[in-house]
Parts: sequence; C-alpha cells; structure tokens
Amino acid sequence: MTIAERLIARLREAGLDLPEGSRLVRIYPSPAMRNEGAWSWSAFGPGGRELQIGSQYPMAELLAAERLDTMQVTSGPVSSDTEVFPAKTCRGCGRTTSTTCRICRKPYCESCLTDHHHEGYGTPADDR
Ligand SMILES: [Zn+2]
Ligand SMILES: [Zn+2]
Repeated sequence: MTIAERLIARLREAGLDLPEGSRLVRIYPSPAMRNEGAWSWSAFGPGGRELQIGSQYPMAELLAAERLDTMQVTSGPVSSDTEVFPAKTCRGCGRTTSTTCRICRKPYCESCLTDHHHEGYGTPADDR
C-alpha cells in the first residue's frame, strides 16, 4: 500500500468519511504559505469532489503518529474543513495535546506549558 492508502485507512479509523475511491493529493505550498498553515495534502472523493479534509502535516508524519485527531476549521461563510493532526500526549499531565514547547519541541498542553520553562529563555513567546 502507498502512504496515501495507508493514511486513508487511518483516517477512516479516526471516523472520517472517505468514500471508496477517495484520493489524497499532495500540495506543495511555498515556505511562506506553509508558515501560515497551508495544507500539504487534501482529500478528493470519486469524480474529483473535494472532501474538505486535509492537513498541514505531511502524510508520513501523520502515519507515524500514535493517534490522529481532527479539528474543524472555517474556510468560508457556509463551509468548514476538517484538519487532521497528530495527537500527542502531554509530558506533564498525560492528556492529549496539540501544542508543543517551542524550545525543546516536546508535547505539553497549554496549562502545563505555563509552568514549563527553560533556564535562560524565559517564557516561550507567542509569535503570532
Ligand atoms: Zn499537561
Ligand atoms: Zn520545553
């Protein structure tokens, strides 16, 4: 099986609706677009219908994750997309988290991050 086929199987296990004949199509965003969270792949159903499922994480990285999580992102006035991301376990409390420490890159939830500091770096700054 290809990486895309294996990922489709994982996405179905995670409860996403991918009909028979769905394809995952790789997108190659520019580095600037990638910084803004552009997707690196997107799902299409039979006949090329957009399924509005995708992720900024590369397919291989999602396949390597223990568990996948999804979140709804608004893409227009009436539509929303489903973004897939690797579920991580907080090193502090063990709960699932989507945030990581900016300095050591280990997964920590937002509440544990407020108590998680690195000597000499101060509090990790929000760069948004
Ligand atoms: Zn935590
Ligand atoms: Zn850290």
